[in-house]
This record gives sequence, C-alpha cells and structure tokens, in this order.
Amino acid sequence: MRPTGKLHLGNFMGALANWVKLQDQYECYFFIADLHALTTDYADTSQIAPNTLEVALDFLGAGLDPERCTIFVQSQVKQHYELPLLLGMITPLGWLERVPSYKEMIENLAHKDLTTFGFLGYPVLMASDILLYQPQFVPVGQDPPAHVELTREVARRFNFFFPRGGRTPRDAGKHPDIRPVTIGMWEGDEVLPEPQVLLTPSPKLPGTDGRKMSKSYGNTILLTDPEPVVRQKLKTMVTDPARVRRTDKGDPDKCPVGDLHKVFSTPETLAKVYDGCRSASIGCIECKGWVADALVQVLNPIQQRRASFTEPQVLEILRDGSSRARARAHQTMDQVHAAMQMTLTGDTGR
Ligand code: SF4
Repeated sequence: MRPTGKLHLGNFMGALANWVKLQDQYECYFFIADLHALTTDYADTSQIAPNTLEVALDFLGAGLDPERCTIFVQSQVKQHYELPLLLGMITPLGWLERVPSYKEMIENLAHKDLTTFGFLGYPVLMASDILLYQPQFVPVGQDPPAHVELTREVARRFNFFFPRGGRTPRDAGKHPDIRPVTIGMWEGDEVLPEPQVLLTPSPKLPGTDGRKMSKSYGNTILLTDPEPVVRQKLKTMVTDPARVRRTDKGDPDKCPVGDLHKVFSTPETLAKVYDGCRSASIGCIECKGWVADALVQVLNPIQQRRASFTEPQVLEILRDGSSRARARAHQTMDQVHAAMQMTLTGDTGR
C-alpha cells in the first residue's frame, strides 16, 4: 500500500480486512510502498516518512500482527532496487506502454510531469515487489489488475532466458536472442515462479459523494475518524435522488447509504432500511444514523488497537519486518544472480 496518508474504510474493506484473515492461512508479506510514492510524487518527498508511519499504524490497528506476518517498508529492503534493474533489462518497452493505467494516470494527473523513466517503469518495480518473495499467490480484491498479468509475463520471460542451473541444449535456438550459455540439467523448478491471483472478496464501498471511496475524490471515511466526524460525514452523504422530500419513497438499491448498510448492518437493520425507505416510513437522517452506528462498531476496535502502539514500537516493528524481508529477498537474489551467471564463481545455482 502506498503511503499517501491515513487509510480509509475503502482500503480496509478492499484489502486490509482480507489481509488480516490471510495472515493465519499463509506466510504473508505486507509492505508500505514508499518507492512507489516516488513514481508520481517525486517533487515533494516531505510527507512520505510521516505517511509511512500512519499507514503502519493503520495496518496494526486493522489487526495485522507482526508475529503472524511480515510488515515492512519497501525502501528498507535494498533488493527492491536491485531486481527491478535486472528485470528492466528484459522487459520490452511495449509491455509497459500498454499497461492501461499508464495512459490513464498521465491524463488524470496532467498537473504532474509523469514522462519519467520511473513512472513508465513502475510495473517492473511492482513485478519485482512480488517476485522477490517467490510467492504462490498475490491477493487481489477485484478483477486481476494488468500489473499481475505483466508480473507473470516478466517472470516467464526471465525463466525462459535464465532457467535454474543454466540452459539446456534443447533450449538453444528456440529464441533468436538466445544462444546456449551452459550445458546443464533443466530441473523444472523456476527461479521466479509465476504467481497466481488469490481473489479475495471486496464489497463495493461508496464514498460520501456516491462515487467509489477514494482519497483523490475527498469522499472518504478514515479509519481514524472519531465518532462525531463519522456521523457528520454521513449526514452530508448523498442518497437516492428520488427521495427529495421526507414523504417520497426511495430505494436502498439506488442509494449509496443503502450500499453501506449492505456491507456493515445486521440483516435486521437492513430489513428495516428496505421496508422503511420503500414505504417512506423512515427519514434519511434516521437511516444514516443506523449506518453510523454500524460503522462506529467497526472503527472502535481498530482505533483502540491503533492507540495502543507508540511510535518507537511501530518503528521497531518496521525495522524487524524489513530485516526479515531482506533475508527472504536475499535468498531470491542469490538464485537470480546464479541463474544469470552474475557471480564471481560462475556458480549457476545447480
Ligand atoms: S432512507 Fe436510507 S436507503 Fe433510503 S434513500 Fe434515505 S438514506 Fe438512502
């Protein structure tokens, strides 16, 4: 997750809540992507460090447990600088230019100069972030993003050029750029396995203006918002446009507040909302009060857990997690170097 500021309910429901479950099922690595922040915000880095701390606190508040998963900061694991350089050497430019978010972000962030090497190459950074841990799965909340597919393609290309233990004679001549470099046994296991997508449920979460909850729209409910702020934000939330007056009937299926009820309220409350809204027997203020009650129930434990960590404790957790991540990434890089025969001894890792 990028350190762009405090996290909001959309981040929680879209990713964090699932990560908390995954930490008991898999060996998990979660990181704060401060190098990615540089791809768009390189001109002002002053907020990256304070935001990193805020995101770490939100991770911990949401329930990520440093005893059950590895939480680290990307820039503190130097292999995140190293692998992108090597993978960048084999990634065709066309693959990067056709990532859908590339043109989209250049248009959306027209006030920033994104015609940089770093921005064009950020999918390679992302692929490296994943492949450094040789994972089986990448958790994804919605349709698999193009980056994951690109990661798989980059891994495939790497493994084709640089199989573990060197290239066998039968590989020679399959690709015009490839000449046999060593005669060795193909063992079938790849240095950079192609990760699979692990689709995790991610409900639609509208912001206060009815659009997707997003920091860039300024429509978020933060995980740190105190109860009065949550209630105030909900008061201004848009509703079914058909309910202009209190006596007008509405439809929760056409109302962003109804969408929040579907995610956070009990079946009993949801039934009251459908009934009361469709018969105009409840007002929107009352209905918003119910969803605020449910949100406060979700946010309270997160905020209590968050408040139980001091800054020195968080820094220690990040230091320890980064050290564990470095050790794991180091193992991968040893294999990468061996496969590429970029070692002083010429060892190919067989
Ligand atoms: S009563 Fe609730 S669901 Fe119906 S329009 Fe008002 S806020 Fe939306």
